[in-house]
Amino acid sequence: MNAQSDLTILGGGLAGLSLALQCRQQLPQASITVLEKRQHPVPEAAFKVGESTVEVAAHYFGKVLGFRQHILDDQLPKLGLRFFFPSGDNSRIEDRLELGGKRYAPCPSYQLDRGRFENFLADTCLERGITFRDQATVQEIDIRKRGTHRVQFEADGERQTVNSRWVVDASGRRAFLKRQLNMQMPSSHIANAAWFRFSRHIKIDEWSQDGDWQQGHADKTARWYSTNHLMGKGYWVWMIPLASGSTSMGIVAAEEFHSLSDFNSMEKAVRWLEKHEPQCAEQVKANLDNVQDFRAIKHYATECRQVFSRHRWGITGEAGFFHDPFYSPGSDFIAFSNTFLTDLIRRDLTGRGFRIRAFSYDRIFKRFYYGTKTAYQDQYRMFGNPTVMPVKILWDYMVYWSITGFIFMQDRMCQQTMYLRNLSRLSQLGKVNHFMQAFFRQWHAATDGVPVQGNVDISQIPLVRESNQRLLDDMNDRTYHQRFAANLQQLETLGCEIVEQSGLNVSVPFGRTTSSMVRANSFESVFASVTGRDRQAQMAPAG
Ligand SMILES: Cc1cc2nc3c(=O)[nH]c(=O)nc-3n(C[C@H](O)[C@H](O)[C@H](O)COP(=O)(O)OP(=O)(O)OC[C@H]3O[C@@H](n4cnc5c(N)ncnc54)[C@H](O)[C@@H]3O)c2cc1C
Repeated sequence: MNAQSDLTILGGGLAGLSLALQCRQQLPQASITVLEKRQHPVPEAAFKVGESTVEVAAHYFGKVLGFRQHILDDQLPKLGLRFFFPSGDNSRIEDRLELGGKRYAPCPSYQLDRGRFENFLADTCLERGITFRDQATVQEIDIRKRGTHRVQFEADGERQTVNSRWVVDASGRRAFLKRQLNMQMPSSHIANAAWFRFSRHIKIDEWSQDGDWQQGHADKTARWYSTNHLMGKGYWVWMIPLASGSTSMGIVAAEEFHSLSDFNSMEKAVRWLEKHEPQCAEQVKANLDNVQDFRAIKHYATECRQVFSRHRWGITGEAGFFHDPFYSPGSDFIAFSNTFLTDLIRRDLTGRGFRIRAFSYDRIFKRFYYGTKTAYQDQYRMFGNPTVMPVKILWDYMVYWSITGFIFMQDRMCQQTMYLRNLSRLSQLGKVNHFMQAFFRQWHAATDGVPVQGNVDISQIPLVRESNQRLLDDMNDRTYHQRFAANLQQLETLGCEIVEQSGLNVSVPFGRTTSSMVRANSFESVFASVTGRDRQAQMAPAG
């Protein structure tokens, strides 16, 4: 059988299905084919990782694609990211420094059961006239510089062909085009992960009976609605609740500190947890009968020379790049690449120029990727440092909300003039962030091993709440560019304050600003917590 399509997507996972739907929105007449080798519906819960979303992905799935109602009805709200830093032998959760919010942030984020979500996306594809073929295994792709590309796949026991103007690889780690076109690149970020799911909710709120610790977290603001991170030197452990009633749990570690061979089976993972995270190990042991799956992945970071081409092919999702699951950015990068691809395909199919854009979008996407990577690369060493890490995490949030999050949520991703106008700002933002990431390593070296306890409620930090809220503002071009300039000034001012508060003698290659759009001393309360100043103040005799 020979078929024709304007767009053929190889792989119907999160990236492929959402790209098909985004293209359908913009191109109601286009013929779109998605080829997926698995049988649908796929099982809920024990299926894939990529369950925790942050602001960009939540905005993409909820608002851009318009699936907010499905998410509200059939998925879970997320009480942000929450982190617990080491204290002693980690046997008392209430003694660990905690960073997280007691209230939901203005910008929503969600926990997605991937099986449930992919079933919903595939059904929606069918409803919207997209040819979604499950149990269709792609075998061969012939990419042509002129004319249509040819995709051969196996379905219903026979070999079939689809000729397509555009081909997008969304095959995840199978990475058809990356392999075929020899575009693999080794990543310098060497880390591994293992994950498993339990068929019941594991609630971190039940790990301590301490009344003070439990205060402020009731009903929908219980801690288990967060993506909870148990942090330690070179590693973190995630706990994510799913709407299907399961809990996703994973161990992620930089190879330099923890070898994958120490936690690459359920038995070894339990032993590893007993050593590093005993309270978590107790929960796992009590739930061994409820384990739904187990998987481990070595060197998960993956890179690619090119993702968009003027020869009408593209790559999205894990088939191209993936750096690190800390901060849950995987789906954000799906939102970025799908948005760029949709624009390229729409331009081509409506007779507008797309070739030069394919080149520049490819460069912009990679700059975003490498810019974000600096938050992880060589930073796992400080993951267990309760002095530096809370500040670094908030810094990383601010960078995200000032650059990629800001651009995407303000719908400026495909505006080339916006990049040209802000070129020097983007370059300076990159330099400031690079400097700060190096500074955090220095600060870590000076404070490694210093114990800190307490609680940083980020919903009480005005700058954090305002910056998150601002992502939702409706901005015209003038206010957008003013805000972009203010974002840079805010980061420079914050950078100066962080270095100053650290007490290290480091000279900063940028200055602070006193403008009405910039908040000064905004992390005061965080410094008070991580340096123990707030407890000293509480303990000091009155008067
Ligand atoms: C440890 C870890 C934790 C993560 N946690 C998060 C997180 O919390 N939040 C987040 O946003 N991201 C997270 N990610 C990233 C997230 O998993 C990915 O961004 C996402 O799953 C990628 O989706 P995808 O559609 O590209 O790939 P997939 O979901 O793997 O989809 C690829 C599809 O292609 C199909 N396919 C493969 N070969 C063929 C073939 N020959 N023919 C037809 N179809 C084929 C497969 O069946 C599959 O359905 C995490 C990643 C890792 C490694």
